[in-house]
Amino acid sequence: MAPRDTDCPKCRDRLERGFIPEQNQGVSTTNWSEGEEPMTHWYGKSIKGLKQYAVEAWRCRGCGYVELYARTEVE
Ligand SMILES: [Zn+2]
Repeated sequence: MAPRDTDCPKCRDRLERGFIPEQNQGVSTTNWSEGEEPMTHWYGKSIKGLKQYAVEAWRCRGCGYVELYARTEVE
């Protein structure tokens, strides 16, 4: 489902969908992961098996406020 409130909670202007690209990996998106943030040196190994959700970023055309939604599970 799309966010019911596609109006900005701050100024009531329209939100438009986008995403936040990973700057150091070309064109990619940021995911939301379940659990607590793992320590850096075992990060790559530790997120395997954890649920990952693609992060949608909805930006207000009026004031620039951004709402994030993580609704679509990714492999
Ligand atoms: Zn706004």
